[in-house]
Amino acid sequence: MQTENAEMYVEVSLPLALDTTLTYRVPESLRNRIALGMRVLVPLQSRIMLGFIVGFRGDCALERVKPILDLPDEEPVFDTGMLDLCKWIAEYYCCSWGEALSAALPAAVKSSIRKRYRLSSEQAPEGRFSERQKKIIAALYARGPLTAGQIASCAGGQALSNSLGALVKRGVVTEEILFREESGPKLVETRVRLVETAIPDNETLLALQRKSPRRAAVYLDLLYGERERAATSLYQKHNADKAVLDALEKAGLITRFTAEKYRMPEMKADTLAENKHRLNEEQQRALTVMSSTLDKHAYETFLLRGITGSGKTEVYLQAIEKALSLKRSAIMLVPEISLTPQTVGRFYARFKQDIAILHSGLSDGERYDAWRLARHGKVRIVVGARSAVFAPLPNLGIIVVDEEHDNSYKQNETPRYHARDVAIIRARMNQAVCLLGSATPSMESYYNSETRKSTRLELLHRATSGRLPEVHLIDMRREHVETPGQIILSTPLENAVKQRLEAKEQIILLLNRRGFAPVVLCPMCGWVAECRDCQVSLTYHSAAGALHCHYCGAKRPNPVICDRCGFNPLIYLGLGTQKAEDYIMRAFPEARVERMDADTTSGKGGHALILGRFARHEIDILIGTQMLAKGHDYPGVTLVGVINADNGLTLPDFRAAEQSFQLLTQVAGRAGRGDRPGEVYIQTYRPKHYAIQAAANHDYTAFYAHEIRHRQEAGYPPFRRMVNFMIEGEDPLVTERASVRLRRLGCEQVELLGFRGVALLGPAPATIRRVKKMYRWNFGLMSRSASRVNQLARALRMAFLEEGLGKNVQIKVDLDPYGMF
Ligand code: ADP
Ligand code: ZN
Ligand code: ZN
Repeated sequence: MQTENAEMYVEVSLPLALDTTLTYRVPESLRNRIALGMRVLVPLQSRIMLGFIVGFRGDCALERVKPILDLPDEEPVFDTGMLDLCKWIAEYYCCSWGEALSAALPAAVKSSIRKRYRLSSEQAPEGRFSERQKKIIAALYARGPLTAGQIASCAGGQALSNSLGALVKRGVVTEEILFREESGPKLVETRVRLVETAIPDNETLLALQRKSPRRAAVYLDLLYGERERAATSLYQKHNADKAVLDALEKAGLITRFTAEKYRMPEMKADTLAENKHRLNEEQQRALTVMSSTLDKHAYETFLLRGITGSGKTEVYLQAIEKALSLKRSAIMLVPEISLTPQTVGRFYARFKQDIAILHSGLSDGERYDAWRLARHGKVRIVVGARSAVFAPLPNLGIIVVDEEHDNSYKQNETPRYHARDVAIIRARMNQAVCLLGSATPSMESYYNSETRKSTRLELLHRATSGRLPEVHLIDMRREHVETPGQIILSTPLENAVKQRLEAKEQIILLLNRRGFAPVVLCPMCGWVAECRDCQVSLTYHSAAGALHCHYCGAKRPNPVICDRCGFNPLIYLGLGTQKAEDYIMRAFPEARVERMDADTTSGKGGHALILGRFARHEIDILIGTQMLAKGHDYPGVTLVGVINADNGLTLPDFRAAEQSFQLLTQVAGRAGRGDRPGEVYIQTYRPKHYAIQAAANHDYTAFYAHEIRHRQEAGYPPFRRMVNFMIEGEDPLVTERASVRLRRLGCEQVELLGFRGVALLGPAPATIRRVKKMYRWNFGLMSRSASRVNQLARALRMAFLEEGLGKNVQIKVDLDPYGMF
């Protein structure tokens, strides 16, 4: 019951680390088009910011509430469901609502804002002005409206803002806002449609053909092909121009109209995947169970544990098809899209125009368009990596998370969300199905299926005739006794490679470290080449002849002599993919060898190029890092070798065993997917380790049973929830003191809140003590109750900032942390 001049207020959430939303007044002029979930421009101190409208209110107790400045869009960018989801993220992961909302939008929707200044009147202003102000006025008078930067460059000097601000206050200069969409405007195109009611008879068509063959060609193409087309596609195909379409339109045969155009990257369909597979019994059972939940329009999370090659993708495809048949939409999450061109190809082949793909290789404009396609219901499926969990599809029915154990689902900047967990929450909010798939489920997800939080479905057989490969463990301790010196391939693995090459089969070799050698050492004085800004040794890369820091990316030329004592030659210790590649090429000169790691795949489509050549068997031996282990399905591969299985086991991380087991099982799963049986060789110094044993026996449940006992004894996740605080600062002492203080504050808060059974971890310097010049400390808390961990995290951060400790050090709050070492 709003009277004419009643005020209207909105709650605005800004993408800043603020604990609250801010209230603004809505001026009359904007009231009729303002809506929940819209982007909005608001003043904040002397800045102008882009925020989101998250609520309305009829009154406000505050005095002098500032008005909002503008609404850049016609429609909201968020519906209430997405506002709620982001609110959950903000609460759970301890960030602001605005930060979460901002993460849910593609970069192109986060635009830049600038101010521009102009003289308020066309006459030269009167009054007394400082020298600097006179210069500003002269510049504006001569050149018209300018940004602060432009004024600075022609009126000279810095610290303009005071003079400029004074002029604005006196009303001499007016400020205006420039709002720039980074993606540029939406694109439109001219489209042509055949007029169905005016299709001429054959005689007339023949006459047209005689009179104007080009017009006839265009018309016949429309008549016998797609009857609606972009004008440009007709121009290209028939070498026609606008006059041809003008004539056809004048004759009443076609109509033209403009429509929004969406930029779509080209996609390659996997033609083999166009046709559905007849599901086998296990697959069918999984599908039936999920279908009945979809039919009920209910929420449920499923964990599909399917061994490598068991045909999980076919189950995803048919579950999504089921959702579509119920007029609902679907999100398919994959770990890293560039690494999974096959999965994308299979989806594209099955669903064609119904898919939008979101990935990091897209331009901002393409991402923006994919986002709009989803928002406007022009596609019903979105396939993408982590952030695709926010795809704005209406009427969501299913979210599939493929390789749910993959760490890339966890974002390591604010908001530090885990896309799998967000997927579960989003499904629950939408009465939808969440389907988590993996051959090696995370401990968290499998534990949830044990405790009935999710429903477990299993595929325990390979879908094709292939059986799981036989795995041989090579005890490298024994190899060393027999052949001293650095061993890259043990004798059994080397023989196996030889055999498979002779049989014209393909080989994958895994080595989880890139570069040539991870340590460059002086044998005389013990000096090791280290990064100046990080506390890590530099890796020698032979291709560039340079040393690289794998933490900050810094490079320096290879020192031929020791930096400290001048000795040469230096020693190149350890083993990276380049050194292994060198060795393999020399050992098997007739083989076609390629390397796949971050160094060889940096260009656009780099992964797809190498994987494409591998698929066409233009490569015999592919050697690379863990990116080789991801979901690839190449039937020609019969041998997989793991050069050093122990790399990951030695990390000081409670997930070290889990991640090693996952990596080994996944890479072993690449072998023997066709009709020829596969074989795996794992080189290890710890052949008795349970992670390695379980991987060798393809025994997920044995691994789980062992690992879950460890986790329970130590009280680690999934038994307790964890929050980690990373404290970073340039000064080592200040950073250490702040960390110690944080622990004391932690104890106080635990006491204050009366929580029992909270474990405190640290503080301790991070394993890599210094990265990019910053010293790093960790301090953690664990409790059985997620809400307690959450409350503590908030209270502790607040206490930390209130003491002013945030001035010299940064604090990052990370819930359910991964790899914080
Ligand atoms: P996963 O993702 O579980 O490792 P994939 O989905 O890659 O396995 O499937 C492995 C192979 O089995 C693929 O080549 C796929 O086309 C094939 N496949 C899947 N389901 C069936 C089926 N029901 N019948 C025959 N082949 C199948
Ligand atoms: Zn030296
Ligand atoms: Zn560095």
